[in-house]
Amino acid sequence: MTAAMRIAPRTGAAFTLNTGDILTVIDPEGMQVSDLLAFARNDVREAISNGRTFDYEETIRLTTGNILWSNRSKPLLEIIADSVGVHDFLLTPCSIDTFRHFYPDKPEHRGCFGNLAEALAPFGIAPDALPCAFNLFMNVPVASSSGAVTVLPPLSKGGDFIRLRALTDLVVGLTACSAYASNGGTFKPIDYVVDRHGPDQGSRP
Ligand SMILES: [Zn+2]
Repeated sequence: MTAAMRIAPRTGAAFTLNTGDILTVIDPEGMQVSDLLAFARNDVREAISNGRTFDYEETIRLTTGNILWSNRSKPLLEIIADSVGVHDFLLTPCSIDTFRHFYPDKPEHRGCFGNLAEALAPFGIAPDALPCAFNLFMNVPVASSSGAVTVLPPLSKGGDFIRLRALTDLVVGLTACSAYASNGGTFKPIDYVVDRHGPDQGSRP
């Protein structure tokens, strides 16, 4: 098993996956969101798409067995294990504008958006090309009658994880989210492990 990499609180990272690689994202302390973006490595204009994914998977509650699709209707990632089962794919990455909107009395922060933009820039991905992220462990219930969305603390506990298989060669961006409401008011790290064609699918990290 490859050693886990740590994303410090309120920061981000980017890395590549080859087809068949297994990415495990772990919430080591619990109640911490991680925004995930994925782009096709051979043409980064092809990116993860929440709309395509909701359409083809016929749900907004994505978990084990679901595929994450691209804007060009190609499968990018498959969720192969998930110890939480509650993630969000509706809301955009938190950004400096999010902080100005929701937390005008708090210090400004560039948020997941700024962290992703910096981490993905070396791969030729510009800020305006960042789509809605798959927000791991983020708890955003939708009221069935009104459609109202609320951001509640994640249901993840320390050691919870989600595991995804790359279905094509990818550039991936990943954060430890910076927004207060998403994380229960405190900021914690996120760990991840990449198994290159890992043989131990489905086991705990
Ligand atoms: Zn965030």
